[in-house]
Amino acid sequence: MEVRTRFAPSPTGYLHVGGARTAIFNWLFARHNKGKFILRIEDTDQERSTDESTNAILDSMRWLGMDWDEGPFFQAKRVDIYNEHVERLIKDGKAYYCTCTPEELEAKRQKALSEGKKPKYDGKCRGNTRRPDVPAAVRFLSPDEGYTVVEDTVKGRVVIENAELDDLIIRRSDGWPTYNFCVVVDDATMGMTHVIRGDDHLNNTPRQIQIYEALGYQIPKFGHVPMILGSDKTRLSKRHGATSVMAYKEMGYLPEAMLNYLVRLGWSHGDQEIFSREELIEKFNLENIGKSAGVFNPEKFLWLNAHYIKESDTQKLSGLLSPFLEAKGFDLSKGPRLKDVVSTLKERSKTILEMSDFAEFYFREEIIYDEKASEKFLKLEMAAVFEPLLSSLQDINDAEFGHDWIEKAFNDLMAEKGMKLKDLAQPVRVALTGGTISPGIFEVMEVLGKDRTLLRLRKALNYVISRS
Ligand code: GLU
Repeated sequence: MEVRTRFAPSPTGYLHVGGARTAIFNWLFARHNKGKFILRIEDTDQERSTDESTNAILDSMRWLGMDWDEGPFFQAKRVDIYNEHVERLIKDGKAYYCTCTPEELEAKRQKALSEGKKPKYDGKCRGNTRRPDVPAAVRFLSPDEGYTVVEDTVKGRVVIENAELDDLIIRRSDGWPTYNFCVVVDDATMGMTHVIRGDDHLNNTPRQIQIYEALGYQIPKFGHVPMILGSDKTRLSKRHGATSVMAYKEMGYLPEAMLNYLVRLGWSHGDQEIFSREELIEKFNLENIGKSAGVFNPEKFLWLNAHYIKESDTQKLSGLLSPFLEAKGFDLSKGPRLKDVVSTLKERSKTILEMSDFAEFYFREEIIYDEKASEKFLKLEMAAVFEPLLSSLQDINDAEFGHDWIEKAFNDLMAEKGMKLKDLAQPVRVALTGGTISPGIFEVMEVLGKDRTLLRLRKALNYVISRS
């Protein structure tokens, strides 16, 4: 049988990392089994659902590289289908009209509470299968006796006493079918074989199973995945830092790092940490989804991101870096080649945002010297060093201005002056980058190119002279 899974977000906000992980599990499971992955937007809560959220969710999924085979389907457009199912249940005597007023229900609730009982609908309207003249809700006739069993691939067997569950409203008196009912009708009519979702939905599952049974539909396999927690072991929320997928994109994380990190947060394959997309598809299974909640660890995620940056090809990283630099207002056509810039920074950048901070000095027209660095390294005595350095760099053939010839110029000068590399490299570094930390100084000069290097050195020479 073809495996069919789905992701069914409610479009009431951005895509949260927890939701993204649920989507990824469903997507991987479908891809692993060469099945289908379906996208369904659960927008029956018309007040809270927005197109903007739907678009944000789709963008996040595309960014993570999750493709879907069918959909997006929108629940709000499927009301007729839900109504047909409501009518069918009424006709079969498995649902009934309820005309109890909210006041009446509230009074009964209060009474039950005051008697120390669990409030539960008392079934007053049971048997009411003729449409009344007044607007009426429709309730599902839930069995009073027996048990409902969820055979959950993650949680194991979960048994609920039917007496615990009261007659759920499946269509409100305003005509809108309710959430649990729509989910069942959709999952059944869309042919889902597996429903993998957050364990915050486990409570809904016994009710949903009863509805499947009443409608005579095949029950899918369920897997309820534990929530993602923050470092303090409470449910991951904004208090712990960014939780939206797109916020991580903006912070310069790579989608492959996020995919890898989120999967590992709830699933394992021995102690392997790093998985390519293809490997995840090949190895993913439901058996190895963890029973206990994963704790979101920002340092580990960052480490993984740095790994993926190191592994990525320079051309691709250049494409990712350019919007970050443009957002800082740099005109990239005026700077050195982005690919060359990236190749000096990819080993040391944990995020693309960080890479763009490191890269700034390459693109600045005016280097701003860090105060402490210039105090320490741009002293008057450097004039006697910068001058001969300028002239020997000037002598290098334009086309050969690169690491090896620059190194030779340094070596000659150091020999002549009896200087150590660091005593020469640090002042030059401050002159070229503004600070004391940068990629290797010969690479920096090569990437900057002859003209920019000489211009910056000349400026530093003037600066040290003017300080006297
Ligand atoms: N719409 C639900 C949510 O966003 C998902 C329901 C489900 O997966 O069954 O939490």
